[in-house]
Amino acid sequence: MKTAIENVHVVLENGIIRNGVIITEDGIIKEFGTKKEVSIPDDAQCIDACGAYVGPGFVDIHVHGGGGYNVWDNPKKVAAFLLSHGETSILPSPPYELNCEEYVCAAKTIGLAMKECPSIKGMYMEGPYINVKYGAYAHINPWRHPISKDDYAKIVDEAGKDAKVWVVAPEREGITEFMDYARKVNPDVIFAIGHSEATPIQIRKLGKFRPKILTHAMNATGRGDVPLGTRGYGPDEYCLKESEMYAELISDSCSIHVHSELQQLILHCKGVEKVILITDNIHNATPTPKEFAHIDDLNFDDCGSLSGSRLTMDQACRNIMCSTNCGIAQAFLMASTNPAKAIAMDAEIGSIDIGKRADLVFVDDWFNVKKVMIGGSFIK
Ligand SMILES: [Zn+2]
Repeated sequence: MKTAIENVHVVLENGIIRNGVIITEDGIIKEFGTKKEVSIPDDAQCIDACGAYVGPGFVDIHVHGGGGYNVWDNPKKVAAFLLSHGETSILPSPPYELNCEEYVCAAKTIGLAMKECPSIKGMYMEGPYINVKYGAYAHINPWRHPISKDDYAKIVDEAGKDAKVWVVAPEREGITEFMDYARKVNPDVIFAIGHSEATPIQIRKLGKFRPKILTHAMNATGRGDVPLGTRGYGPDEYCLKESEMYAELISDSCSIHVHSELQQLILHCKGVEKVILITDNIHNATPTPKEFAHIDDLNFDDCGSLSGSRLTMDQACRNIMCSTNCGIAQAFLMASTNPAKAIAMDAEIGSIDIGKRADLVFVDDWFNVKKVMIGGSFIK
């Protein structure tokens, strides 16, 4: 089936085509350009986008829930909710609060959901071997005991090649043994550093595993030793300096996760090509503390600490435009293109290009989602 999307501002990696046209066929982007450049096939179904901005569907690589559900028990409901917000690709993330059995069960449930939900592209494994000092529910983190193959092999085997990313704290003793095993099971696996206070030396000791992503920059990270009262140097600073590394960013509407000045610092150091917006959406039943009741995209644990967020990617795009000086095309880079590159799926998704999947999100100039297309079909 051919579809011609007309009257559209086409958001590309390097700019925007005003009043353009996009042609899709059998779920793939066939052509795009200005009205003059593109001839519309006679047999195409024509869609008037009414002047919307159309960008690549959002790629949320780190998300635990959405719409009041969580990915470990209801991944299909989460995927449907996030899809309605333009998230055409997601990596559901079982959280580190789960014990070994629950992790295995979550990986199985998400693996099954992948067969039915085209937006679920794999899993983002946030743990289990993080630094137990950091993150929500730190007091009940069940992964304090030494790293053991008896535990991790069950989880890694169940997740298999669907585990696209494993988050580790390099300072955990025996972490490279775990990483070796994860890479043996999935040779394409990507490692992220998160919930960590590793020093640069500890990070460099990971050597061949070369972490590619920093999990939610400036959240749940520490700075290790602080010699002679000087300022320490941890994963955040390491990432700011390492040009190849991507920094995940949670941008909520009041810049609580990361102060707007720090969001600007991250963009300044990393450049817009190396920042990945994530939602880290999770649903805890815990009520929001009174002082934050007016903010609807935060989520808390039972100690009143931040625990992920209730963001969707459209909202995260609005937020980053407020907290930094970025515009629509740059927000799409951080919400779609960069994450697709970070997980090595950019040959298929993450930008509007000939031959890529017709995963498109139609928004107004304030990122209100008007329409969503996945695999060439509009969702209802
Ligand atoms: Zn998370």
